[in-house]
Amino acid sequence: MKGFAMRKIGKTGWVEKDTPECGPLDAIVKPLAVSPCTSDVHTVWEGAIGERTDMILGHEAVGEVVEVGSLVKDFTSGDKVIIPAITPDWSSPESQAGFSMHSGGMLAGWKFSNFKDGVFADYFHVNDADGNLALLPDELDVAEAVMLSDMVPTGFHGVELAEIKFGDDVCVVGIGPVGLMAVAGAALSGAANIYAVGSRPVCSQVAREYGATDIINYRDGDLVEQIMDKTNGKGVDKAIVAGGTATETFNQVLKILKPGGRIGNVNYLGSGENVLINRLDWGCGMGHKVIAGGLMPGGRLRMEKLAALATTGRIDLGKLITHKFNGMEHLEEALFLMKDKPKELIKPVVIV
Ligand code: NDP
Ligand code: ZN
Repeated sequence: MKGFAMRKIGKTGWVEKDTPECGPLDAIVKPLAVSPCTSDVHTVWEGAIGERTDMILGHEAVGEVVEVGSLVKDFTSGDKVIIPAITPDWSSPESQAGFSMHSGGMLAGWKFSNFKDGVFADYFHVNDADGNLALLPDELDVAEAVMLSDMVPTGFHGVELAEIKFGDDVCVVGIGPVGLMAVAGAALSGAANIYAVGSRPVCSQVAREYGATDIINYRDGDLVEQIMDKTNGKGVDKAIVAGGTATETFNQVLKILKPGGRIGNVNYLGSGENVLINRLDWGCGMGHKVIAGGLMPGGRLRMEKLAALATTGRIDLGKLITHKFNGMEHLEEALFLMKDKPKELIKPVVIV
């Protein structure tokens, strides 16, 4: 079979591989629609998780099951399914402790395009099929449903990590597709003012449609000053970080966060050695300003619940998709869009 791979750090290309084998608990799936992620960009061009050789990329897919293992109970060939980016081993101690995304070690619930071949292939392997696949509801468009693999669960996890409560004033730093889902999730969770930080006009427009009350263009002036102005010097209750840098963003957010506030980080800090935290802005360590960072939770139940938000019309996933391609041969183009981030881009999808 063919797959679009990371050949080594900084280099991508097509590879030929054997079709993956199906274990007793597993499934083999062929993609119906896939999407590249900014995380693929960190992995290939920043070498963020180290060297990988000929590893097939991609972790966002909707597909059709072509084979299931002998112990799989709830899925069969021909089922159309949503596959989460994170596919934990559900019997692991980490899963039993409530941190399934770290099953088998830190970040090890993230398997596709991390330490096994991903979904940009003719076929891909899904471990623990009963725990990780979710049936695709008939009424969902395949391209929109791909947003449920990673963009919705990641943005919404930012909301969970920040513990947003009714009436909170919230700053969302970064309004790419992940940050936009954080805006939508914050609005669904009852945030009052939502200050959305970004610069691409298409993202700003969609951020407003998802519930942002103010757009802060970080390229137009100091982000801290702009938010302190808008909040009459008070700052915000909570913040979600879905963009920015390890050396600048946390200090900016700590400056605008009230004591007792929380930062939910879902940004993948892809380069550099340290995250910089300013001592004074962090209240000399006594400011009750919590920084919580997390990989998205995966698994079947999560996918089913988030899909229900789409089928009930509570989130409109179509707004995230700015580029649609037909045919796997366009994968490279789609991935390079994610790398280059042209002004008119939010998220590309490739329909197979
Ligand atoms: P994008 O690159 O599309 O969006 C990044 C956003 O951050 C843009 O709005 C960008 O603004 C803004 N930004 C960039 N630099 C700054 C800065 N210095 N200050 C403030 N804002 C800035 O990324 P995605 O939405 O696709 O992904 C966001 C992050 O989430 C990535 O790091 C990705 O790898 C990560 N991720 C994490 C997952 C998890 O489970 N935790 C899963 C999936 C993704 P502009 O409008 O100028 O482009
Ligand atoms: Zn991703």
